[in-house]
Amino acid sequence: MYEYVIVGGGVHGTCLANYLIDSGGYTHDELRIVDPRDALLASFATKARQCGMRTLRSSFVHHIDTEPFSLETFATGHGRGDELVATEDYPNRPTLELFLDHARYVIDRRDLADCHVQGTVSAITEPDHGESLRVETDERAFDTRRVVLALGLGPQPTYPEWTTPMPDDAALTHVWEEGFDPTAATAFDGRTIVVGGGITAAQLACRFAEQTHVTLLSRHDLETALPEADPQWINWGHIETHIHTLPAGSQARHDRIRNVRNDATIPPYVMDRLTDACNRGDLAVRIGEISCAHATGDGLLVRFADGRSTATVQVLLATGLEPAPDHPLVSQVAETLGLERGANGFPVLNDRTLAWRRTDGADSRVSVSGMLAETTVGPLARNVIGARRVAERLLTGCSESRGQRRTASEPAHLG
Ligand SMILES: Cc1cc2nc3c(=O)[nH]c(=O)nc-3n(C[C@H](O)[C@H](O)[C@H](O)COP(=O)(O)OP(=O)(O)OC[C@H]3O[C@@H](n4cnc5c(N)ncnc54)[C@H](O)[C@@H]3O)c2cc1C
Repeated sequence: MYEYVIVGGGVHGTCLANYLIDSGGYTHDELRIVDPRDALLASFATKARQCGMRTLRSSFVHHIDTEPFSLETFATGHGRGDELVATEDYPNRPTLELFLDHARYVIDRRDLADCHVQGTVSAITEPDHGESLRVETDERAFDTRRVVLALGLGPQPTYPEWTTPMPDDAALTHVWEEGFDPTAATAFDGRTIVVGGGITAAQLACRFAEQTHVTLLSRHDLETALPEADPQWINWGHIETHIHTLPAGSQARHDRIRNVRNDATIPPYVMDRLTDACNRGDLAVRIGEISCAHATGDGLLVRFADGRSTATVQVLLATGLEPAPDHPLVSQVAETLGLERGANGFPVLNDRTLAWRRTDGADSRVSVSGMLAETTVGPLARNVIGARRVAERLLTGCSESRGQRRTASEPAHLG
């Protein structure tokens, strides 16, 4: 019987495991992280490289370790202080390689890889009526007292409607498709159109503009914002005042979060790269949409919504991921364990413990982290810092329930 099984070994799953082990309340033998990748954090590292990201958008105090200045100490201790990039009106931000090397250092220092089991979780069941959970992969099962779902941003890339009737070998790909290889895509002999209007599209366009001519096609004017939400959303006090006062599971919580997140924006340091590429003549920004496209022998023939068209192009989509609640495991868990889902299918959580509530109102043994926890953890839930907030509440909830267990068993023990 494990104490915790964390489903997903990305930024959140790894950070949570680090906090649980660091608290001294759990041993490696009591904890498992199940993830199909061959290494923890591999999903984030792959995505970051696929889109040509050079630096984190968040600051140097946002990382997977428990001590806020851990990354800065790591950087200066390894002679890499210059990889903390100065940013106007914002704390320094780490380069991607510094962030990842520090994360690997944390994983090694705490032997977190010892907790990692490779596998994809297909179901979670309750074999003994609420006393424990069973986490199932195709190969094995784990019995555990608690589960945390840390499944990431969304299950599948989002494809616009016009892409549906397209052969597999068409010159069309999505940046979040498994196996997307930016190096191979730069070898295309024709024009490249990057579709999207946020940071991922902008970074991808800048990367490609170093080798070929690129058109960045956005549905809306490009907008600039540095953080993904105001840093005051890091604080529980602010989250409790502005989110927890709204009814759990309500559309009002979503609306408030949508209104304060800087979604589909581009930070100034990426906007500067875009402007430089435009000035060099390597990149053009076009506001509009593709209405249809046909595969030809030498790329795509693309028609835009304004009626104009262009031939011999490859299209790279940076159009995001399907919503996190659409993950099949979320539906399976909710249906099998009788858990409550609110507006837009998000789990309804106990705001204090982050336990996913049963439809009868009681806390279940399942918690969530990352984007799935947004309606309780707020607009930065999906970000690196969101994992730290979840870890704090999990540890508070655990020490309370362990304390209760101890108190209940003490008389018999003493007797
Ligand atoms: C390119 C990029 C740059 C970003 N930059 C920043 C930044 O600078 N600052 C910031 O704060 N945030 C940033 N974010 C947002 C956020 O921090 C990252 O998306 C982060 O990876 C989220 O962590 P996660 O653990 O929720 O998801 P992931 O890191 O994607 O991990 C989810 C894991 O769950 C696993 N999984 C899914 N389903 C199953 C299953 N059924 N069984 C087992 N395992 C499963 C996946 O394999 C994956 O490893 C960025 C996001 C992206 C995509």
